[in-house]
Amino acid sequence: MALLEHNMEEQEKSLNFIEQIVEKDLAEGVNDGRIQTRFPPEPNGYLHIGHVKAICMDFGIAEKYNGVCNLRFDDTNPAKEDTEYVETIERDIAWLGFKWGKIFYASDYFQQLYDLAIMFIKQGKAYVDEQTAEQIAEQKGTPTEPGVASPYRDRPIEENLRLFEAMQRGEIEEGKMVLRAKIDMANPNMHFRDPIMYRIITSHPHHRTGTKWKVYPMYDFAHGQSDYFEGVTHSICTLEFEVHRPLYDYFIDQFSGPNFCGLSPYGPNYRPKQREFNRLNITYTVMSKRKMLQLVKEGLVAGWDDPRMPTVCGLRRRGYTPSAIRTFMDKIGYTKVEGMIDQGLLEHTIREDLKETAPRVCAIFDPVKLVITNYEGDGETIVAENIDGHPELGTREMQFGKELWIERGDFLEEADNKFYRLSPGGREVRLKASYIIQATGCEKDANGNITTVYATYDPNSKSGTEGGNRKTKATINWVECKSAVDAEVRLYDRLFAVENPSADERDFRELLNPDSLKVVTAKVEASLAKAKMQDHFQLLKQGYFVVDDDSKPEHLILNRTCSLKDNYLK
Ligand code: ATP
Ligand code: MG
Repeated sequence: MALLEHNMEEQEKSLNFIEQIVEKDLAEGVNDGRIQTRFPPEPNGYLHIGHVKAICMDFGIAEKYNGVCNLRFDDTNPAKEDTEYVETIERDIAWLGFKWGKIFYASDYFQQLYDLAIMFIKQGKAYVDEQTAEQIAEQKGTPTEPGVASPYRDRPIEENLRLFEAMQRGEIEEGKMVLRAKIDMANPNMHFRDPIMYRIITSHPHHRTGTKWKVYPMYDFAHGQSDYFEGVTHSICTLEFEVHRPLYDYFIDQFSGPNFCGLSPYGPNYRPKQREFNRLNITYTVMSKRKMLQLVKEGLVAGWDDPRMPTVCGLRRRGYTPSAIRTFMDKIGYTKVEGMIDQGLLEHTIREDLKETAPRVCAIFDPVKLVITNYEGDGETIVAENIDGHPELGTREMQFGKELWIERGDFLEEADNKFYRLSPGGREVRLKASYIIQATGCEKDANGNITTVYATYDPNSKSGTEGGNRKTKATINWVECKSAVDAEVRLYDRLFAVENPSADERDFRELLNPDSLKVVTAKVEASLAKAKMQDHFQLLKQGYFVVDDDSKPEHLILNRTCSLKDNYLK
Protein backbone atom coordinates (compact mmCIF):
# COMPACT_ATOMS: atom_id res chain seq x y z
CA MET A 1 0.00 0.00 0.00
CA ALA A 2 2.71 2.44 0.98
CA LEU A 3 4.42 1.67 -2.29
CA LEU A 4 1.29 2.34 -4.31
CA GLU A 5 0.79 5.66 -2.56
CA HIS A 6 4.37 6.55 -3.24
CA ASN A 7 3.92 5.75 -6.93
CA MET A 8 0.79 7.87 -7.06
CA GLU A 9 2.62 10.85 -5.62
CA GLU A 10 5.43 10.37 -8.09
CA GLN A 11 2.92 10.27 -10.91
CA GLU A 12 1.21 13.42 -9.75
CA LYS A 13 4.44 15.31 -9.94
CA SER A 14 5.75 13.96 -13.22
CA LEU A 15 4.21 13.85 -16.68
CA ASN A 16 2.46 10.71 -17.78
CA PHE A 17 3.99 8.98 -20.80
CA ILE A 18 1.46 10.43 -23.23
CA GLU A 19 2.17 13.95 -21.97
CA GLN A 20 5.86 13.24 -22.46
CA ILE A 21 5.17 12.24 -26.08
CA VAL A 22 3.08 15.36 -26.64
CA GLU A 23 5.77 17.62 -25.18
CA LYS A 24 8.39 16.01 -27.38
CA ASP A 25 6.17 16.46 -30.46
CA LEU A 26 5.62 20.10 -29.55
CA ALA A 27 9.33 20.64 -29.08
CA GLU A 28 10.01 19.11 -32.49
CA GLY A 29 7.26 21.05 -34.21
CA VAL A 30 5.44 17.90 -35.34
CA ASN A 31 2.20 18.73 -37.21
CA ASP A 32 3.12 22.43 -36.95
CA GLY A 33 2.68 22.31 -33.18
CA ARG A 34 -1.02 21.63 -33.45
CA ILE A 35 -2.65 19.51 -30.73
CA GLN A 36 -5.92 17.89 -31.65
CA THR A 37 -7.45 14.88 -29.92
CA ARG A 38 -10.83 13.24 -30.10
CA PHE A 39 -12.98 11.07 -27.90
CA PRO A 40 -14.51 8.43 -30.18
CA PRO A 41 -17.36 6.52 -28.49
CA GLU A 42 -19.52 4.11 -30.40
CA PRO A 43 -23.12 5.14 -29.66
CA ASN A 44 -24.15 1.62 -28.73
CA GLY A 45 -24.48 2.05 -24.98
CA TYR A 46 -23.95 4.44 -22.11
CA LEU A 47 -20.56 5.72 -21.03
CA HIS A 48 -18.94 3.86 -18.17
CA ILE A 49 -16.11 4.79 -15.86
CA GLY A 50 -13.66 3.07 -18.22
CA HIS A 51 -14.61 5.59 -20.87
CA VAL A 52 -14.02 8.37 -18.35
CA LYS A 53 -10.40 7.34 -18.15
CA ALA A 54 -10.15 7.90 -21.91
CA ILE A 55 -12.17 11.12 -21.67
CA CYS A 56 -9.86 12.55 -19.00
CA MET A 57 -6.90 11.73 -21.22
CA ASP A 58 -8.33 13.02 -24.52
CA PHE A 59 -9.83 16.21 -23.12
CA GLY A 60 -7.03 16.61 -20.57
CA ILE A 61 -4.29 16.66 -23.21
CA ALA A 62 -6.20 19.22 -25.29
CA GLU A 63 -6.83 21.43 -22.24
CA LYS A 64 -3.28 21.24 -20.99
CA TYR A 65 -1.61 21.96 -24.34
CA ASN A 66 -4.02 24.55 -25.76
CA GLY A 67 -5.42 22.13 -28.26
CA VAL A 68 -8.88 20.99 -29.09
CA CYS A 69 -10.66 17.75 -28.32
CA ASN A 70 -13.58 16.89 -30.56
CA LEU A 71 -16.29 14.41 -29.90
CA ARG A 72 -16.62 11.81 -32.63
CA PHE A 73 -19.30 9.20 -32.69
CA ASP A 74 -17.91 6.05 -34.20
CA ASP A 75 -21.21 5.04 -35.73
CA THR A 76 -20.27 2.43 -38.30
CA ASN A 77 -22.49 -0.41 -37.11
CA PRO A 78 -26.18 0.49 -37.52
CA ALA A 79 -27.25 -2.82 -36.01
CA LYS A 80 -26.21 -1.69 -32.56
CA GLU A 81 -26.35 2.08 -32.54
CA ASP A 82 -29.01 4.59 -31.63
CA THR A 83 -29.56 8.33 -31.17
CA GLU A 84 -30.60 7.67 -27.57
CA TYR A 85 -26.98 6.80 -26.89
CA VAL A 86 -25.67 9.85 -28.73
CA GLU A 87 -27.71 12.10 -26.46
CA THR A 88 -26.72 10.41 -23.21
CA ILE A 89 -23.04 10.38 -24.17
CA GLU A 90 -23.11 14.14 -24.75
CA ARG A 91 -24.99 14.72 -21.50
CA ASP A 92 -22.56 12.58 -19.48
CA ILE A 93 -19.44 14.26 -20.89
CA ALA A 94 -20.92 17.68 -20.13
CA TRP A 95 -21.78 16.55 -16.60
CA LEU A 96 -18.17 15.49 -16.09
CA GLY A 97 -17.25 19.08 -16.90
CA PHE A 98 -15.50 18.65 -20.26
CA LYS A 99 -16.05 20.81 -23.33
CA TRP A 100 -15.63 19.43 -26.80
CA GLY A 101 -14.71 21.52 -29.81
CA LYS A 102 -16.93 20.05 -32.53
CA ILE A 103 -19.14 17.04 -32.80
CA PHE A 104 -18.35 14.67 -35.66
CA TYR A 105 -19.73 11.35 -36.76
CA ALA A 106 -17.86 8.63 -38.61
CA SER A 107 -21.02 8.48 -40.72
CA ASP A 108 -20.17 12.02 -41.91
CA TYR A 109 -17.33 10.36 -43.81
CA PHE A 110 -19.21 7.48 -45.42
CA GLN A 111 -18.90 9.05 -48.86
CA GLN A 112 -15.21 9.91 -48.46
CA LEU A 113 -14.47 6.45 -47.09
CA TYR A 114 -16.35 4.85 -49.97
CA ASP A 115 -14.37 6.95 -52.45
CA LEU A 116 -11.16 5.87 -50.76
CA ALA A 117 -12.23 2.24 -51.00
CA ILE A 118 -12.83 2.72 -54.71
CA MET A 119 -9.35 4.24 -54.99
CA PHE A 120 -7.89 1.22 -53.19
CA ILE A 121 -9.69 -1.14 -55.58
CA LYS A 122 -8.48 0.81 -58.61
CA GLN A 123 -4.93 0.66 -57.27
CA GLY A 124 -5.22 -3.10 -56.86
CA LYS A 125 -5.13 -2.80 -53.06
CA ALA A 126 -8.57 -4.24 -52.31
CA TYR A 127 -10.77 -7.08 -53.53
CA VAL A 128 -14.25 -8.43 -53.03
CA ASP A 129 -14.31 -11.77 -51.25
CA GLU A 130 -17.32 -14.06 -51.54
CA GLN A 131 -16.30 -16.51 -48.86
CA THR A 132 -18.15 -16.91 -45.57
CA ALA A 133 -16.83 -15.31 -42.39
CA GLU A 134 -15.86 -18.79 -41.16
CA GLN A 135 -13.84 -19.56 -44.29
CA ILE A 136 -12.05 -16.25 -44.05
CA ALA A 137 -11.26 -16.87 -40.38
CA GLU A 138 -9.93 -20.38 -41.13
CA GLN A 139 -7.58 -19.05 -43.77
CA LYS A 140 -6.09 -16.41 -41.45
CA GLY A 141 -3.45 -18.82 -40.17
CA THR A 142 -1.76 -18.33 -36.81
CA PRO A 143 0.86 -15.84 -35.69
CA THR A 144 3.54 -18.43 -36.52
CA GLU A 145 1.95 -19.91 -39.65
CA PRO A 146 1.09 -17.88 -42.73
CA GLY A 147 -2.50 -17.66 -43.88
CA VAL A 148 -3.99 -19.03 -47.07
CA ALA A 149 -4.94 -16.69 -49.89
CA SER A 150 -8.61 -16.37 -50.76
CA PRO A 151 -9.54 -17.81 -54.18
CA TYR A 152 -10.95 -14.33 -54.95
CA ARG A 153 -7.74 -12.52 -54.07
CA ASP A 154 -6.62 -12.00 -57.64
CA ARG A 155 -9.91 -10.99 -59.16
CA PRO A 156 -9.52 -8.39 -61.93
CA ILE A 157 -9.87 -4.79 -60.80
CA GLU A 158 -12.93 -4.23 -63.03
CA GLU A 159 -14.75 -7.12 -61.40
CA ASN A 160 -13.92 -5.86 -57.91
CA LEU A 161 -15.25 -2.44 -58.82
CA ARG A 162 -18.46 -3.84 -60.31
CA LEU A 163 -19.10 -6.11 -57.29
CA PHE A 164 -18.35 -3.44 -54.68
CA GLU A 165 -20.74 -1.08 -56.43
CA ALA A 166 -23.34 -3.85 -56.54
CA MET A 167 -22.81 -4.36 -52.80
CA GLN A 168 -23.55 -0.69 -52.19
CA ARG A 169 -26.63 -0.74 -54.47
CA GLY A 170 -28.12 -3.43 -52.23
CA GLU A 171 -27.92 -6.11 -54.91
CA ILE A 172 -25.91 -8.46 -52.73
CA GLU A 173 -27.35 -10.14 -49.67
CA GLU A 174 -25.94 -9.29 -46.22
CA GLY A 175 -23.08 -11.63 -45.33
CA LYS A 176 -22.45 -12.77 -48.91
CA MET A 177 -19.53 -10.51 -49.78
CA VAL A 178 -16.95 -8.30 -48.10
CA LEU A 179 -14.30 -5.94 -49.36
CA ARG A 180 -10.84 -6.89 -48.13
CA ALA A 181 -7.57 -4.99 -48.27
CA LYS A 182 -4.97 -6.89 -50.26
CA ILE A 183 -1.93 -6.65 -48.05
CA ASP A 184 0.00 -9.71 -46.90
CA MET A 185 -1.38 -13.11 -45.91
CA ALA A 186 1.95 -14.07 -44.33
CA ASN A 187 2.52 -10.99 -42.22
CA PRO A 188 3.36 -11.87 -38.59
CA ASN A 189 0.84 -9.19 -37.58
CA MET A 190 -2.46 -10.96 -38.13
CA HIS A 191 -4.20 -7.64 -38.77
CA PHE A 192 -2.29 -7.36 -42.04
CA ARG A 193 -3.66 -10.61 -43.42
CA ASP A 194 -6.10 -8.98 -45.80
CA PRO A 195 -8.32 -7.29 -43.21
CA ILE A 196 -11.96 -6.67 -44.02
CA MET A 197 -12.60 -3.05 -45.00
CA TYR A 198 -16.33 -3.21 -45.75
CA ARG A 199 -19.29 -5.42 -45.01
CA ILE A 200 -22.92 -5.30 -46.10
CA ILE A 201 -25.60 -4.33 -43.57
CA THR A 202 -29.10 -4.04 -45.01
CA SER A 203 -31.10 -5.40 -42.08
CA HIS A 204 -30.86 -2.21 -39.96
CA PRO A 205 -31.24 1.38 -41.10
CA HIS A 206 -28.54 3.71 -39.82
CA HIS A 207 -29.67 6.18 -37.14
CA ARG A 208 -28.38 9.10 -39.21
CA THR A 209 -28.05 8.01 -42.82
CA GLY A 210 -31.10 5.76 -42.96
CA THR A 211 -30.90 3.25 -45.82
CA LYS A 212 -28.58 5.28 -48.03
CA TRP A 213 -25.65 2.98 -47.34
CA LYS A 214 -25.70 -0.76 -47.76
CA VAL A 215 -21.98 -1.18 -47.09
CA TYR A 216 -20.36 -0.05 -43.87
CA PRO A 217 -16.65 0.40 -43.13
CA MET A 218 -15.01 -1.73 -40.45
CA TYR A 219 -13.32 -0.12 -37.46
CA ASP A 220 -9.82 -0.42 -38.92
CA PHE A 221 -10.78 1.29 -42.14
CA ALA A 222 -12.96 3.96 -40.55
CA HIS A 223 -11.09 5.04 -37.47
CA GLY A 224 -7.74 6.21 -38.73
CA GLN A 225 -9.26 7.80 -41.81
CA SER A 226 -11.76 9.71 -39.67
CA ASP A 227 -8.86 10.93 -37.54
CA TYR A 228 -7.12 12.01 -40.72
CA PHE A 229 -10.09 13.84 -42.24
CA GLU A 230 -10.54 15.78 -39.00
CA GLY A 231 -6.91 16.66 -38.52
CA VAL A 232 -6.38 14.71 -35.30
CA THR A 233 -2.76 14.80 -34.19
CA HIS A 234 -2.79 12.42 -31.23
CA SER A 235 -5.21 9.54 -31.54
CA ILE A 236 -5.16 8.12 -28.03
CA CYS A 237 -6.82 4.81 -27.29
CA THR A 238 -6.50 1.72 -25.16
CA LEU A 239 -3.81 -0.96 -25.37
CA GLU A 240 -5.86 -3.56 -27.22
CA PHE A 241 -5.50 -1.34 -30.29
CA GLU A 242 -1.71 -1.37 -30.16
CA VAL A 243 -1.61 -4.35 -32.54
CA HIS A 244 -3.87 -2.42 -34.92
CA ARG A 245 -1.49 0.52 -35.06
CA PRO A 246 0.60 -0.73 -38.03
CA LEU A 247 -2.61 -1.13 -40.03
CA TYR A 248 -3.77 2.32 -38.95
CA ASP A 249 -0.48 3.63 -40.32
CA TYR A 250 -0.64 1.48 -43.45
CA PHE A 251 -4.00 2.87 -44.53
CA ILE A 252 -2.92 6.47 -43.90
CA ASP A 253 0.34 5.86 -45.82
CA GLN A 254 -1.75 5.16 -48.92
CA PHE A 255 -2.96 8.75 -49.22
CA SER A 256 -0.48 10.89 -47.26
CA GLY A 257 3.21 11.70 -47.54
CA PRO A 258 4.42 10.89 -51.07
CA ASN A 259 0.95 9.52 -51.88
CA PHE A 260 -0.78 12.73 -50.79
CA CYS A 261 -3.92 13.35 -52.81
CA GLY A 262 -5.38 16.42 -51.14
CA LEU A 263 -7.56 14.70 -48.58
CA SER A 264 -6.35 16.94 -45.77
CA PRO A 265 -5.98 20.72 -45.59
CA TYR A 266 -2.83 20.15 -43.55
CA GLY A 267 -0.78 18.93 -46.48
CA PRO A 268 1.39 15.86 -47.19
CA ASN A 269 3.39 16.02 -43.98
CA TYR A 270 0.42 15.91 -41.65
CA ARG A 271 -0.13 12.58 -39.87
CA PRO A 272 -2.25 11.47 -36.96
CA LYS A 273 -0.37 9.17 -34.57
CA GLN A 274 -2.05 6.53 -32.50
CA ARG A 275 -0.93 6.08 -28.88
CA GLU A 276 -2.20 3.50 -26.41
CA PHE A 277 -2.61 3.37 -22.63
CA ASN A 278 -3.93 0.73 -20.24
CA ARG A 279 -7.68 0.17 -19.90
CA LEU A 280 -9.41 0.73 -16.62
CA ASN A 281 -10.69 -2.38 -14.90
CA ILE A 282 -12.22 -2.20 -11.43
CA THR A 283 -12.93 -5.03 -8.99
CA TYR A 284 -16.49 -6.19 -8.29
CA THR A 285 -17.88 -4.79 -11.52
CA VAL A 286 -17.83 -5.28 -15.28
CA MET A 287 -16.54 -2.75 -17.79
CA SER A 288 -18.28 -3.73 -20.97
CA LYS A 289 -21.23 -2.09 -22.66
CA ARG A 290 -22.39 -5.45 -23.96
CA LYS A 291 -22.65 -6.92 -20.48
CA MET A 292 -24.22 -3.77 -19.08
CA LEU A 293 -26.83 -3.86 -21.84
CA GLN A 294 -27.64 -7.43 -20.84
CA LEU A 295 -28.09 -6.43 -17.19
CA VAL A 296 -30.44 -3.65 -18.26
CA LYS A 297 -32.41 -5.69 -20.80
CA GLU A 298 -32.88 -8.62 -18.47
CA GLY A 299 -34.02 -6.38 -15.63
CA LEU A 300 -31.16 -7.40 -13.37
CA VAL A 301 -30.64 -3.71 -12.59
CA ALA A 302 -33.18 -0.89 -12.74
CA GLY A 303 -31.64 0.71 -15.85
CA TRP A 304 -28.42 2.16 -17.22
CA ASP A 305 -28.50 4.70 -14.39
CA ASP A 306 -29.06 2.18 -11.63
CA PRO A 307 -26.79 3.43 -8.82
CA ARG A 308 -24.97 0.08 -8.79
CA MET A 309 -23.94 0.41 -12.43
CA PRO A 310 -20.42 1.60 -13.32
CA THR A 311 -21.95 3.93 -15.91
CA VAL A 312 -21.41 7.67 -15.60
CA CYS A 313 -25.14 8.22 -15.03
CA GLY A 314 -25.19 5.36 -12.50
CA LEU A 315 -22.26 6.86 -10.60
CA ARG A 316 -23.96 10.23 -10.63
CA ARG A 317 -27.14 8.75 -9.24
CA ARG A 318 -25.09 6.89 -6.65
CA GLY A 319 -23.74 10.24 -5.46
CA TYR A 320 -20.35 10.37 -7.14
CA THR A 321 -19.25 13.88 -8.08
CA PRO A 322 -17.37 14.81 -11.25
CA SER A 323 -14.48 16.08 -9.13
CA ALA A 324 -14.16 12.80 -7.25
CA ILE A 325 -14.23 10.81 -10.48
CA ARG A 326 -11.55 13.02 -12.00
CA THR A 327 -9.42 12.79 -8.87
CA PHE A 328 -9.69 9.02 -9.09
CA MET A 329 -8.37 9.12 -12.66
CA ASP A 330 -5.43 11.28 -11.55
CA LYS A 331 -4.64 8.80 -8.81
CA ILE A 332 -4.60 5.70 -11.01
CA GLY A 333 -2.66 7.37 -13.79
CA TYR A 334 -1.83 6.08 -17.27
CA THR A 335 0.65 3.33 -18.04
CA LYS A 336 1.27 0.57 -20.55
CA VAL A 337 0.51 -2.18 -18.05
CA GLU A 338 -2.96 -3.73 -17.75
CA GLY A 339 -4.22 -4.21 -14.22
CA MET A 340 -7.17 -4.20 -11.92
CA ILE A 341 -8.03 -1.28 -9.66
CA ASP A 342 -9.51 -1.91 -6.22
CA GLN A 343 -13.08 -0.59 -6.08
CA GLY A 344 -12.15 0.52 -2.57
CA LEU A 345 -9.97 3.24 -4.11
CA LEU A 346 -12.95 4.65 -5.99
CA GLU A 347 -15.01 4.59 -2.78
CA HIS A 348 -12.13 6.14 -0.87
CA THR A 349 -11.98 9.00 -3.37
CA ILE A 350 -15.65 9.93 -3.12
CA ARG A 351 -15.55 9.54 0.66
CA GLU A 352 -12.66 11.97 0.88
CA ASP A 353 -14.50 14.39 -1.41
CA LEU A 354 -17.78 14.27 0.52
CA LYS A 355 -16.03 14.41 3.88
CA GLU A 356 -15.15 18.01 3.11
CA THR A 357 -18.50 19.11 1.78
CA ALA A 358 -21.50 16.98 2.74
CA PRO A 359 -23.65 18.45 5.55
CA ARG A 360 -24.21 16.07 8.45
CA VAL A 361 -27.75 15.20 9.44
CA CYS A 362 -29.40 12.73 11.78
CA ALA A 363 -31.32 9.78 10.40
CA ILE A 364 -32.68 6.93 12.47
CA PHE A 365 -32.79 3.63 10.59
CA ASP A 366 -34.29 1.38 13.29
CA PRO A 367 -36.28 3.80 15.44
CA VAL A 368 -37.49 3.43 19.01
CA LYS A 369 -39.22 6.25 20.82
CA LEU A 370 -37.45 8.13 23.58
CA VAL A 371 -39.55 10.19 26.00
CA ILE A 372 -37.77 12.82 28.09
CA THR A 373 -39.97 12.82 31.13
CA ASN A 374 -38.74 16.05 32.68
CA TYR A 375 -38.86 18.11 29.48
CA GLU A 376 -41.61 20.72 29.60
CA GLY A 377 -43.01 22.87 26.83
CA ASP A 378 -43.57 22.53 23.09
CA GLY A 379 -40.00 22.02 22.10
CA GLU A 380 -37.28 24.27 20.76
CA THR A 381 -35.07 24.86 17.78
CA ILE A 382 -31.44 23.92 17.96
CA VAL A 383 -28.96 25.42 15.56
CA ALA A 384 -26.32 22.88 14.61
CA GLU A 385 -23.28 23.21 12.38
CA ASN A 386 -23.50 21.40 9.05
CA ILE A 387 -20.04 20.06 9.67
CA ASP A 388 -18.79 20.13 13.27
CA GLY A 389 -16.02 22.62 13.79
CA HIS A 390 -16.68 24.34 10.45
CA PRO A 391 -19.01 27.28 11.09
CA GLU A 392 -18.05 28.66 7.66
CA LEU A 393 -19.93 25.76 6.06
CA GLY A 394 -23.22 26.90 7.51
CA THR A 395 -25.73 25.70 10.03
CA ARG A 396 -29.12 24.04 10.06
CA GLU A 397 -32.06 24.04 12.42
CA MET A 398 -33.00 20.92 14.30
CA GLN A 399 -36.32 20.61 16.04
CA PHE A 400 -36.01 19.35 19.63
CA GLY A 401 -38.81 18.18 21.89
CA LYS A 402 -40.06 15.81 24.53
CA GLU A 403 -40.36 12.80 22.20
CA LEU A 404 -37.50 11.73 19.97
CA TRP A 405 -36.65 8.81 17.72
CA ILE A 406 -33.37 7.14 18.59
CA GLU A 407 -31.70 4.01 17.22
CA ARG A 408 -32.96 0.86 18.90
CA GLY A 409 -29.36 -0.30 19.26
CA ASP A 410 -28.46 2.80 21.29
CA PHE A 411 -30.43 1.52 24.29
CA LEU A 412 -29.83 -1.61 26.32
CA GLU A 413 -32.01 -2.48 29.24
CA GLU A 414 -29.17 -4.37 30.85
CA ALA A 415 -25.68 -3.41 29.81
CA ASP A 416 -22.20 -4.23 31.01
CA ASN A 417 -19.66 -1.49 31.59
CA LYS A 418 -18.35 -1.67 28.03
CA PHE A 419 -21.61 -0.26 26.68
CA TYR A 420 -21.40 3.52 26.81
CA ARG A 421 -24.73 4.42 25.27
CA LEU A 422 -28.14 4.53 26.93
CA SER A 423 -28.95 2.15 29.75
CA PRO A 424 -30.67 2.72 33.07
CA GLY A 425 -28.19 3.18 35.90
CA GLY A 426 -26.96 6.73 35.82
CA ARG A 427 -24.72 6.80 32.72
CA GLU A 428 -24.78 10.15 30.93
CA VAL A 429 -25.11 10.25 27.15
CA ARG A 430 -25.18 13.30 24.93
CA LEU A 431 -27.88 13.73 22.33
CA LYS A 432 -26.06 14.99 19.25
CA ALA A 433 -25.78 18.80 19.24
CA SER A 434 -28.13 19.17 22.22
CA TYR A 435 -28.57 17.93 25.79
CA ILE A 436 -27.19 15.27 28.06
CA ILE A 437 -29.70 12.62 29.11
CA GLN A 438 -29.84 9.62 31.42
CA ALA A 439 -32.08 6.63 30.74
CA THR A 440 -34.51 5.74 33.49
CA GLY A 441 -36.33 2.72 32.06
CA CYS A 442 -38.39 1.39 29.20
CA GLU A 443 -41.73 -0.05 28.21
CA LYS A 444 -42.28 -3.26 26.21
CA ASP A 445 -45.05 -4.86 24.23
CA ALA A 446 -46.50 -8.33 24.84
CA ASN A 447 -43.64 -9.91 22.89
CA GLY A 448 -41.01 -8.24 25.00
CA ASN A 449 -39.98 -5.71 22.34
CA ILE A 450 -39.08 -2.31 23.65
CA THR A 451 -41.61 0.30 22.51
CA THR A 452 -40.52 3.33 24.52
CA VAL A 453 -37.38 4.37 26.32
CA TYR A 454 -37.64 6.85 29.18
CA ALA A 455 -34.99 9.35 30.14
CA THR A 456 -34.42 12.61 31.95
CA TYR A 457 -32.36 15.47 30.63
CA ASP A 458 -30.14 18.12 32.18
CA PRO A 459 -31.44 21.53 31.05
CA ASN A 460 -28.00 23.04 31.76
CA SER A 461 -26.08 20.76 29.43
CA LYS A 462 -27.02 22.17 26.04
CA SER A 463 -24.29 22.10 23.40
CA GLY A 464 -23.00 25.54 22.63
CA THR A 465 -23.60 26.73 26.22
CA GLU A 466 -21.18 26.48 29.11
CA GLY A 467 -22.76 23.22 30.23
CA GLY A 468 -22.32 21.92 26.71
CA ASN A 469 -18.65 21.34 27.33
CA ARG A 470 -19.33 18.53 29.75
CA LYS A 471 -17.96 15.32 28.24
CA THR A 472 -19.81 12.06 27.90
CA LYS A 473 -18.44 8.77 26.68
CA ALA A 474 -21.08 8.50 23.98
CA THR A 475 -23.12 10.75 21.73
CA ILE A 476 -26.24 9.40 20.08
CA ASN A 477 -28.35 10.59 17.18
CA TRP A 478 -31.96 11.56 17.42
CA VAL A 479 -34.80 13.00 15.41
CA GLU A 480 -37.74 14.79 17.00
CA CYS A 481 -40.91 12.73 16.52
CA LYS A 482 -43.48 15.34 15.49
CA SER A 483 -41.29 16.99 12.87
CA ALA A 484 -39.53 13.83 11.64
CA VAL A 485 -39.78 13.00 7.95
CA ASP A 486 -39.87 9.47 6.59
CA ALA A 487 -37.27 8.72 3.97
CA GLU A 488 -36.87 5.71 1.73
CA VAL A 489 -33.22 4.85 2.11
CA ARG A 490 -31.61 2.67 -0.52
CA LEU A 491 -28.56 0.93 0.83
CA TYR A 492 -26.48 0.06 -2.21
CA ASP A 493 -23.52 -2.25 -2.16
CA ARG A 494 -21.23 -3.69 -4.83
CA LEU A 495 -23.00 -5.12 -7.85
CA PHE A 496 -20.95 -8.32 -8.00
CA ALA A 497 -20.08 -10.79 -5.29
CA VAL A 498 -16.76 -11.76 -6.86
CA GLU A 499 -13.69 -9.65 -7.39
CA ASN A 500 -13.28 -10.24 -11.11
CA PRO A 501 -16.53 -11.33 -12.76
CA SER A 502 -14.94 -11.19 -16.22
CA ALA A 503 -12.29 -13.77 -15.33
CA ASP A 504 -14.81 -16.18 -13.81
CA GLU A 505 -15.85 -19.23 -15.78
CA ARG A 506 -19.46 -18.89 -14.61
CA ASP A 507 -21.89 -16.63 -16.46
CA PHE A 508 -21.41 -13.12 -15.12
CA ARG A 509 -25.12 -12.86 -14.33
CA GLU A 510 -24.78 -15.64 -11.79
CA LEU A 511 -22.16 -13.64 -9.93
CA LEU A 512 -24.33 -10.70 -8.92
CA ASN A 513 -24.26 -9.75 -5.25
CA PRO A 514 -27.69 -10.72 -3.87
CA ASP A 515 -27.33 -8.02 -1.19
CA SER A 516 -26.46 -5.16 -3.51
CA LEU A 517 -29.65 -3.30 -2.52
CA LYS A 518 -31.52 -3.14 0.78
CA VAL A 519 -34.25 -0.62 1.42
CA VAL A 520 -35.16 0.81 4.81
CA THR A 521 -37.53 3.54 5.88
CA ALA A 522 -35.72 5.96 8.12
CA LYS A 523 -36.84 8.84 10.31
CA VAL A 524 -34.85 11.89 9.26
CA GLU A 525 -34.52 15.49 10.34
CA ALA A 526 -37.15 17.85 9.00
CA SER A 527 -34.40 19.92 7.38
CA LEU A 528 -34.07 17.15 4.79
CA ALA A 529 -37.59 17.73 3.49
CA LYS A 530 -36.20 20.69 1.55
CA ALA A 531 -33.39 18.66 0.00
CA LYS A 532 -33.10 18.73 -3.77
CA MET A 533 -32.07 16.10 -6.27
CA GLN A 534 -28.31 15.48 -6.15
CA ASP A 535 -27.86 17.10 -2.72
CA HIS A 536 -25.28 15.17 -0.72
CA PHE A 537 -25.42 14.41 2.99
CA GLN A 538 -23.65 12.43 5.60
CA LEU A 539 -26.27 10.60 7.63
CA LEU A 540 -24.42 10.48 10.91
CA LYS A 541 -22.93 7.07 11.72
CA GLN A 542 -24.52 5.65 8.54
CA GLY A 543 -22.61 6.88 5.52
CA TYR A 544 -22.81 9.32 2.65
CA PHE A 545 -26.08 9.67 0.80
CA VAL A 546 -27.47 11.55 -2.16
CA VAL A 547 -31.02 12.59 -2.99
CA ASP A 548 -32.27 10.28 -5.74
CA ASP A 549 -33.63 11.55 -9.05
CA ASP A 550 -37.07 10.11 -8.25
CA SER A 551 -37.24 11.78 -4.84
CA LYS A 552 -40.22 14.08 -4.21
CA PRO A 553 -40.98 16.43 -1.32
CA GLU A 554 -43.70 14.03 -0.16
CA HIS A 555 -41.53 10.96 -0.73
CA LEU A 556 -37.90 11.52 0.03
CA ILE A 557 -35.50 8.93 -1.44
CA LEU A 558 -31.85 8.77 -0.40
CA ASN A 559 -29.21 6.58 -2.06
CA ARG A 560 -26.19 5.42 -0.15
CA THR A 561 -23.07 6.56 -1.99
CA CYS A 562 -20.65 4.81 0.35
CA SER A 563 -20.29 3.77 3.94
CA LEU A 564 -18.22 5.76 6.43
CA LYS A 565 -15.74 3.00 6.99
CA ASP A 566 -12.72 3.11 4.71
CA ASN A 567 -11.43 -0.39 4.13
CA TYR A 568 -9.09 0.80 1.41
CA LEU A 569 -6.70 2.54 3.74
CA LYS A 570 -6.17 -0.60 5.81
P1 ATP B 1 -16.90 -1.62 -24.43
O1 ATP B 1 -15.81 -2.66 -24.46
O2 ATP B 1 -17.44 -1.34 -23.08
O3 ATP B 1 -17.96 -1.82 -25.46
P2 ATP B 1 -15.56 0.09 -26.23
O4 ATP B 1 -14.09 0.20 -26.12
O5 ATP B 1 -16.11 -0.73 -27.32
O6 ATP B 1 -16.15 -0.29 -24.83
P3 ATP B 1 -16.00 2.64 -27.38
O7 ATP B 1 -17.25 3.41 -27.39
O8 ATP B 1 -15.48 2.08 -28.63
O9 ATP B 1 -16.23 1.49 -26.32
O10 ATP B 1 -14.87 3.42 -26.61
C1 ATP B 1 -14.58 4.79 -26.80
C2 ATP B 1 -13.22 5.06 -26.22
O11 ATP B 1 -13.20 4.73 -24.83
C3 ATP B 1 -12.15 4.25 -26.89
O12 ATP B 1 -11.07 5.11 -27.18
C4 ATP B 1 -11.76 3.23 -25.86
O13 ATP B 1 -10.40 2.90 -25.97
C5 ATP B 1 -12.08 3.94 -24.55
N1 ATP B 1 -12.40 2.97 -23.50
C6 ATP B 1 -13.38 2.05 -23.51
N2 ATP B 1 -13.33 1.29 -22.41
C7 ATP B 1 -12.29 1.72 -21.67
C8 ATP B 1 -11.70 1.34 -20.42
N3 ATP B 1 -12.19 0.33 -19.70
N4 ATP B 1 -10.63 2.03 -19.98
C9 ATP B 1 -10.13 3.05 -20.69
N5 ATP B 1 -10.63 3.46 -21.86
C10 ATP B 1 -11.69 2.81 -22.36
MG1 MG C 1 -15.46 -0.22 -29.34
